[in-house]
Amino acid sequence: MSEKLAAVKGMNDILPPESARWEWLEEKVRALMRRYGYANVRTPVVEPTALFVRGLGEVTDIVEKEMYSFEDTMNGDRLTLRPEATAGIVRAMIEHNALYNGPLRVWSNVALFRHERPQKGRYRQFHQIDVEALGHAGPDVDAEQILMCAALLRDLGIDREHVRLELNSLGQPAERNAHRAALVAHFEAHADRLDDDARRRLHSNPLRILDSKNPAMQPIVEAAPKLLDFLGPASLAHLDAVRAALDAAGQPYRINPRLVRGMDYYNLTVFEWITDKLGAQGTVCGGGRYDGLFEQLGGKPTPAVGWGMGMERMLLLLDAVGANPPPEAPDAYAIVPAPDAMTTALVACEALRAAGVSVQMHAAGADGWGGMKAQFRRADASGARYALIFGADELANGQVAVKHLRDGSGAQRLEPLADPLAWAATLQSGH
Ligand code: ATP
Ligand code: MG
Repeated sequence: MSEKLAAVKGMNDILPPESARWEWLEEKVRALMRRYGYANVRTPVVEPTALFVRGLGEVTDIVEKEMYSFEDTMNGDRLTLRPEATAGIVRAMIEHNALYNGPLRVWSNVALFRHERPQKGRYRQFHQIDVEALGHAGPDVDAEQILMCAALLRDLGIDREHVRLELNSLGQPAERNAHRAALVAHFEAHADRLDDDARRRLHSNPLRILDSKNPAMQPIVEAAPKLLDFLGPASLAHLDAVRAALDAAGQPYRINPRLVRGMDYYNLTVFEWITDKLGAQGTVCGGGRYDGLFEQLGGKPTPAVGWGMGMERMLLLLDAVGANPPPEAPDAYAIVPAPDAMTTALVACEALRAAGVSVQMHAAGADGWGGMKAQFRRADASGARYALIFGADELANGQVAVKHLRDGSGAQRLEPLADPLAWAATLQSGH
C-alpha cells in the first residue's frame, strides 16, 4: 500500500453529515440576499499579489505575514491566493466598468487563505459570506447592511444575548492623520512597553497597534487617544445617521472607540458582530465603509460598504448555542433484495424523484450486494422515513411494498408501480 496523504495543515475537509449544516447555512444566506436585492458574484481564487498589497495596505497582518503568495512558474507572475474578498470584487467592478449603469449590491460565497496559526475558529483555508454595496455613499446603506446581518442571525435562530454589535467610525484620512500624530506621541511615551510588532508599526502604521491581540499591550492600547475625538462634523453626522437608523429599527449596538479593522481601506463606519462563546475567535462578522478603495485600485471615486461573515465561526456559534438545523434525510430508501430487480427499481425511483420525492437507492458495496438485513440497516442509517421494498413477490404483482421506518408501527402497504404519481406525495414530509 502507498503512504497516505493528508490535507494541508489548517485546511479542512467538510464531509457529511457536517456538510449538511453548511448547505443549510448557505440556503439561509441565499434567501437573505434575495430578500435584500443583492446579486451573486464570483471572482477568481487567485489574483495578482499587487492587488492585495495596494488594496489592503503593506503594513497589515494579512499582507505582512498571512498571504499565500507564489510565482507562476510558467511566466514569473507574482500571484496570491485571495486572503479576503473585497479587493478582488472591486478589481472586477473596475475592470468590467460594472457600475456604468449605477450602483450595485452584490454578495459572494468565498474560500479565503491566510497563513495563521490554526486553532478553533481560525484556519488557513476558511470561508466567508461577503456582502458589498457599491456606489452608495450611505449612511442608510451602512445601516441596511448591519440590519441584514441581524436578520441573518435571527433566521439562524441565534438570540441577541449571544452576539453583540459593536460600532465605530474611522473618519476620513485627514482626521486619521491628526489622530495618528497623537497616537505616535502616546506610544512613543510608552516605547519601553511596546512589543516588537508595535515598535515596528509605530511609524509605519500606528493605528494597527490598536488591533494588537497581545494581552500585555492592552493597558497602553486602552489609554491611547481615541479617533472618535478627532472626527469633524461631517464624519460625526454620518455616524449619527447610522446610529439613528439602528435605533429606529430597534437594533442595539455599542460604540467601541477601539474598534479598528484588519485592513487599511476602511473609513467612516466600521462594525463587528462579536460573541463570547468562541474565545479569542469571537468576531463572527466584520465590515465597514471603504470609500477610497476604488481609486486606490485605479478606478473612479466610488463609495462602498461591505461585510464578511466567517462561515466556520458561524457554524461553531450555532453549535455552541444549540441552534442546529433539522437533520437531513431522504424521504425513502429503496431496498432491492435481488440484483435482478435492480432495473425495475431504478426506473421506479426515477419516476418518484421526478415527482419530487427524494429516494436513496440501494447499491452494491465492495462486499457484494448485501442481504435484506444489511439493506434495512442502511435504510435505517440513511434516516429515510420509508423503505420501498422491491421484492420478487411484490414485483410479480406490479407492486412495491412501502414500509414506515419511523413511527414504530412497522406498518406496510402495497402501491402500484405503474402509477407512481398516485402515491408519490404520500412519501414526502408532511405525510
Ligand atoms: P480576526 O480579528 O479574528 O483575525 P479579522 O479581522 O482578520 O478577524 P476579517 O478579515 O475582517 O477578520 O474577516 C471577517 C471574518 O472572517 C471574521 O470576523 C471571521 O469570522 C472570519 N475569519 C477571519 N480570519 C479567519 C480565519 N483565519 N479562520 C476562520 N475565520 C476567519
Ligand atoms: Mg485576522
